[in-house]
Amino acid sequence: MILVTGGAGFIGSNFVRDWLTLNDEPVINLDKLTYAGNLSNLASLEQDPRHIFVRGDICDTAHVSRLLAEHKPRAIVHFAAESHVDRSIHSPGEFISTNVNGTFGLLEAARAYWSGLTGEAKDGFRFLHVSTDEVYGTLGPQDPPFTETTPYAPNSPYSASKAASDHLVRAYFHTYGMPVLTTNCSNNYGSFHFPEKLIPLIISNARAGKPLPIYGDGMQVRDWLYVGDHCSAIRRVLEAGRLGEVYNVGGWNELANLEVVHTLCDILDTLDPKASGSYREQITYVQDRPGHDRRYAIDARKIERELGWKPAETFATGIRKTVQWYLDNQAWVRDVQSGDYLKWVEQNYAARDTAKE
Ligand code: NAD
Repeated sequence: MILVTGGAGFIGSNFVRDWLTLNDEPVINLDKLTYAGNLSNLASLEQDPRHIFVRGDICDTAHVSRLLAEHKPRAIVHFAAESHVDRSIHSPGEFISTNVNGTFGLLEAARAYWSGLTGEAKDGFRFLHVSTDEVYGTLGPQDPPFTETTPYAPNSPYSASKAASDHLVRAYFHTYGMPVLTTNCSNNYGSFHFPEKLIPLIISNARAGKPLPIYGDGMQVRDWLYVGDHCSAIRRVLEAGRLGEVYNVGGWNELANLEVVHTLCDILDTLDPKASGSYREQITYVQDRPGHDRRYAIDARKIERELGWKPAETFATGIRKTVQWYLDNQAWVRDVQSGDYLKWVEQNYAARDTAKE
């Protein structure tokens, strides 16, 4: 049994589905179901007894401790976070609460649980913290990519809160000897991505005939990794990562935002052509995000060399799969955009909570 936090979100739900496709080991999935957590991401597991979903907050240490005592997982894979940079600019408090205090609470519960283990269970326990390349700050055009020893220089409340959580995880290794691992990954894309993020936003706006917003000059560079490749990297680090180590995860796919949007328009022009003209005509430049980092790039040689991990998808193959997935899953997109899934969660969980009283 492993405990996954945030397993109803974009990457977490991909991780849980992939895990249960590849393993028989059950997953307990703890998620608060914020606006970003969506149980329909896990619909394929509804009847699967190996998937135990628990609605709960990682900040609720007593609840986490009860779950650990009851299910005795051999590992925690920690995805739960507030994850959207724009939202962190408008309401940073929630980012501190979940990403910093929540990770702290989770570490405390995990430490108490791990301390009480003995023998192989204690030696084999792992706490894997999923983090981002944004903690390293921004690069100039000629700078080498981020390595695991690049100094932290976060620039947004989101990246600062993730940096703080990374430091706490590190401290629990050095202070208490807790068996932790951290991954810092570049931008992910793929199925079940919430449509506030660049790639799904562009796909849905394009098809709805709406403007395709580009921040500033669109020349901000990001490294892109297909979500399934991020999940395989996490599995590999969990399996064989050296305790206390950090592994950068990336796809060697540096692209300017504008290039990504052009690629999406070109794929849509082929897979779902408009009556006339190209989707590129919908591109609209909007005011840049404050403090917008110019370039992120990941040096993934450590995980490749030490753990033999390599991404299976190139950007060309992964992005085509992704566009096709959105075209094939319009009901999911409509549900997320209308907020219907949130209403469903509130009705269902309110009913369950009343039943418990
Ligand atoms: P997401 O926003 O799609 O999902 C986050 C999930 O966490 C949601 O299901 C949400 O309900 C849950 N959650 C939020 N607060 C919670 C709380 N207090 N208690 C329990 N659950 C809570 O995020 P994502 O894009 O899937 O990212 C997952 C993790 O990966 C994050 O830690 C993020 O920093 C990291 N990461 C993301 C990317 C990316 O490109 N998306 C890249 C690198 C690292």
